[in-house]
Amino acid sequence: MGNTVIVGGGTAGLAAAYTLERAGADYTVLEKRDFSGGRIYGTVRDGLTLDLGAQFMFTRYYTMFDLLDQMGLRDELVSWKLSAGIQRDGKFYYIRTDVRDAVKHFKETVEARKYLSTSGKLNAVKLGLDFAKIGRKLDFNDPLKAIELDDISFADYTRKKFGDEVLEYLQQPVVSALSLGQPEEVSAAYGMALGWYGVPGLATFKKGIGFLAESLKSRIKEVRLNTSVKRIVLEGKMVKGVEIESGGKTEVIEADNVICCTLAGEAAALLPDLPVEMLDVLNSIKYSACAHVMLGVPGRPLGGFYALVGPRKEGFSHAGITENAVKAPGYAPPDKGIIHVYTYADHAKRMLDMSDSEVLDIILPEIRQMVPTFPDPLFCEIFRWPQAVCLSRPGQIRDVQKLKVALRDYSGLYLAGEYFALPSVEGALTSGVKTAERLLY
Ligand SMILES: Cc1cc2nc3c(=O)[nH]c(=O)nc-3n(C[C@H](O)[C@H](O)[C@H](O)COP(=O)(O)OP(=O)(O)OC[C@H]3O[C@@H](n4cnc5c(N)ncnc54)[C@H](O)[C@@H]3O)c2cc1C
Repeated sequence: MGNTVIVGGGTAGLAAAYTLERAGADYTVLEKRDFSGGRIYGTVRDGLTLDLGAQFMFTRYYTMFDLLDQMGLRDELVSWKLSAGIQRDGKFYYIRTDVRDAVKHFKETVEARKYLSTSGKLNAVKLGLDFAKIGRKLDFNDPLKAIELDDISFADYTRKKFGDEVLEYLQQPVVSALSLGQPEEVSAAYGMALGWYGVPGLATFKKGIGFLAESLKSRIKEVRLNTSVKRIVLEGKMVKGVEIESGGKTEVIEADNVICCTLAGEAAALLPDLPVEMLDVLNSIKYSACAHVMLGVPGRPLGGFYALVGPRKEGFSHAGITENAVKAPGYAPPDKGIIHVYTYADHAKRMLDMSDSEVLDIILPEIRQMVPTFPDPLFCEIFRWPQAVCLSRPGQIRDVQKLKVALRDYSGLYLAGEYFALPSVEGALTSGVKTAERLLY
């Protein structure tokens, strides 16, 4: 099979490289940033673990489990019980999935039932029944199973079947927190899958999400950082190599195969010679944005809750705030906490060009509206993601399928990444592994 260049040392790229490594193949990973891991990157600041991109894994992440088993690392995964406060008309309602905890706070548990009106509750039951009916079709790794839900937006689907209240107070908060976009922007296939995957619970790594990237990276050949691929060189429908820029110099690396694991629009820019129909698909893939605010704080100001969420009608510029120290003891010492704020949709887009202090001037008063006693932060770290999560817009599954078919005519050219699945860490890992396997076997 000759030598392979993997463009992008992110989630899919590392998974592809690990698969090639295990098969003893010849490959090189090129990464434009000064760190690998892409959107599963994590770091530590002042003893606090920061997950810069992805926040948690779902318990149905089967490809991730396979990779962890291959690396002997399954025990590094930990789950935690979700507890959250959700605001409606300025008042908080508290949900605890730990039964003992829910019983201990009996009054709050009973009060939470008033979050929805009687008709809203009936529609929520209908939603539960719908999940039970279509759940088996909601597969992050096989989007085609949910093709019949691809053409309608999640907002239209929910409003039509379950009414406005379920859309605004149940579905929008979940989908915005997980996609960082609006329910109008994602397909019903993706929106419903996000809700469905969340039901059994959440997991992370004892040392943070970045542990997954670090573990894959330490088992593959060196990732060449600060190496931006400028073009994938094609001769007709055959791959010849890649043109790179590194240390101010341009160079061509010859290759028999290229697996391009960048975001969709970036792949289009690297492949200007593809036919316009293929480029149109790549350029039509939409992403949310996020100015991801991480605050080191004294104590645990969210009172032990993992998340506080405000539906969009409450007017916040974030889709929720979380206390990441709750996820696992390794995240923070007991006297400190890490508050993450997920700005979303147009709010986030506006913040991408703001200075840190301008963002904080918006965010801190919003947090103090939710938690009036919120302390002055010990530090603030803001990571700006102009393209945070692929939104799987209505029609994306069908269009990406056409792209996949068209790619079969190209020798040595492979594309991978979250947009080939239902966008998620799991989808990206699966796409990376499957693409490498296609090349190998
Ligand atoms: C704030 C946030 C929260 C999220 N929360 C969750 C969550 O809780 N659970 C979940 O499952 N998913 C979550 N996601 C989504 C998840 O992280 C992504 O779906 C997944 O990691 C995408 O993987 P990927 O391989 O497609 O892209 P990436 O991991 O982004 O990898 C792409 C890589 O390509 C590199 N690259 C691009 N262009 C070039 C070039 N020209 N040359 C060389 N390298 C290049 C990039 O630098 C990057 O490293 C979240 C994302 C964000 C941003």
